[in-house]
Amino acid sequence: MQRILVRDARNAAAIGQQRRISGWVRTRRDSKGGFSFIELNDGTSLANLQIVADASLTNYESEIKRLAPGCSLSAEGEIKSSGGKGQATELHASRIVVHGWADPETYPLQKKHHSFEKLREWAHLRPRTNTLGAVARVRNCASRSIHNYFQEQDFLYVHTPIITASDCEGAGEMFKVTTLDLEALAKQSRPPDYALDFFERPAFLTVSGQLEAETYATALGRVYTFGPTFRAENSNTSRHLAEFWMVEPEVAFNELPENMELAEGLIKRIFRDVLDRCGEDIAFFNERIDNTVLATLTGIVESPFERITYTDAMALLESSGRKFDYQPSWGQDLQAEHERYLTEEAIKRPVIVYDYPRGIKPFYMRVNEDGRTVRAMDVLVPKVGEIIGGSQREERLDVLTQRMGEQGLNPDAYWWYLDLRRFGTVPHAGFGLGLERVVQFMTGMANIRDVIPFPRTPGNAEF
Ligand code: ATP
Ligand code: MN
Repeated sequence: MQRILVRDARNAAAIGQQRRISGWVRTRRDSKGGFSFIELNDGTSLANLQIVADASLTNYESEIKRLAPGCSLSAEGEIKSSGGKGQATELHASRIVVHGWADPETYPLQKKHHSFEKLREWAHLRPRTNTLGAVARVRNCASRSIHNYFQEQDFLYVHTPIITASDCEGAGEMFKVTTLDLEALAKQSRPPDYALDFFERPAFLTVSGQLEAETYATALGRVYTFGPTFRAENSNTSRHLAEFWMVEPEVAFNELPENMELAEGLIKRIFRDVLDRCGEDIAFFNERIDNTVLATLTGIVESPFERITYTDAMALLESSGRKFDYQPSWGQDLQAEHERYLTEEAIKRPVIVYDYPRGIKPFYMRVNEDGRTVRAMDVLVPKVGEIIGGSQREERLDVLTQRMGEQGLNPDAYWWYLDLRRFGTVPHAGFGLGLERVVQFMTGMANIRDVIPFPRTPGNAEF
């Protein structure tokens, strides 16, 4: 018998069809008249399909009445219209095959409500819950949107390396990759000699694919990378992971205003697609997690982002009359509390802050005419704060070399990056968007650990 997915079987168009449905039991309820209702989920939708199983099934007493949450089965029968609340259809089973049992005594998800914190201890089972299932669908939809957005504008998807010898942001936050026997070295109290290591030099997990993406942008025009990124920052916050996914477009001949448009367009495209394709999931997040997400997403899709210079943002903060933990002052980075004040109270929508002081931004950002600021931009959103960080890049060899000196970087180590300025240099710009921050924003999930399948944070890498 032909198989149908729960999502399609719930559609009234399926009524009258003989189909097989396969999935995992969410609940079983027995009715007095000698039949049972089984709620089956297969991951294709938030909602379940109700299966009506009656006592005429040969395994009704021996198996059906023992079904519990977590059991897996296939059921065959006719899809009929349903009188039940919230469902157009149900399947009247003529045969049910149980694939696997789940002992209610030991199955962790037997009990309905667990905290998200508790669920993290069962990262292998939590995708079977409503919330994590919905997160997975929204995350998938966002990823697909990202590719579509760039592909439709003729960007090339470039695979930048995961293992790298260059450090994009300044040392200290990177995971080292080595095959040296560190224990043996420690026993002999010898320092590691990286000339003897696998790559014959220190190597790291990448913190960003930007520098490598620039090599392709300055050859092929418009490119993007979309891959895992690693930061060993020991910040135990609700918005930081040690391993996260970043989208990084890099575009030759783009300057900062076009970079902002590209960023705003990307965010709106993702939100629009998620609203279109994952309406049921977003409605769920709006009802159960954060009752502002639906209105916020719809509002953002329809209105332009605010653009404000760092200097004006500072003035706004200083004149706010607000008592902050960190007093805002020109030359200092924006703190999370400042970002929240700007997006949630002062401007009440996404804000692109640009032209930051040169002292707080990396060497590759283009220095402005004023000499004090660089062409940096951060996209800030309510609650989550920064979801995009980007800039126009410094394309002038002399300025770039001088900036590296300022930040204590050795230009020799970046000879290939500087070559891009030596040979046919062009203005160009790009940014990095953290996928998890976007998913967090769309779903209203309070902790970033619950929007990635297997979160890596300080002290956590069990699964
Ligand atoms: P933050 O100030 O929030 O730590 P950042 O300035 O270090 O961010 P960038 O280096 O500009 O961030 O990285 C680009 C984007 O990657 C950020 O805007 C954010 O969306 C995401 N991102 C950065 N660090 C993390 C992290 N540790 N976990 C998850 N996402 C991150
Ligand atoms: Mn950071």
